[in-house]
Amino acid sequence: MSKKQLSAGDTVESRCTKCRTIMNHTIVAMVSGQPGRVQCNTCKGTHNYRKPAAEKTAKALAAPRKMTARKVDPDPATWEALALNDQTGHAATYSFQGIYKLEEIVNHPLFGLGQVTRLVPPNKVEILFRDGRKLLRCS
Ligand SMILES: [Zn+2]
Repeated sequence: MSKKQLSAGDTVESRCTKCRTIMNHTIVAMVSGQPGRVQCNTCKGTHNYRKPAAEKTAKALAAPRKMTARKVDPDPATWEALALNDQTGHAATYSFQGIYKLEEIVNHPLFGLGQVTRLVPPNKVEILFRDGRKLLRCS
């Protein structure tokens, strides 16, 4: 395919500032071998030529969704990430008489290792265990 030399009056694809998408445009004026001013075949608006490739790049940059903010509350999936096994030696055995603070690691006789995720006054505590969060009594 031989590259066709563009000239005024030819049709090129360009990003249209009004249509906000790639449209066929008629070249109005050439500037140093490149389309300078173009007229949109759709809305008839005249504007500077914009390479469709530039549009693609702009879209690619705009496209990625922003990462959702890190969850404040850990969910069961993050239990693994807590690496609680490292804490086994430090974990206090859970008891009704215990007084717990946020992020404290506890070892529950039934549920295993967990981390305090929420304090619920006056006498409850929410702990994230391997199989989910549980609301337990404490002092
Ligand atoms: Zn247009």
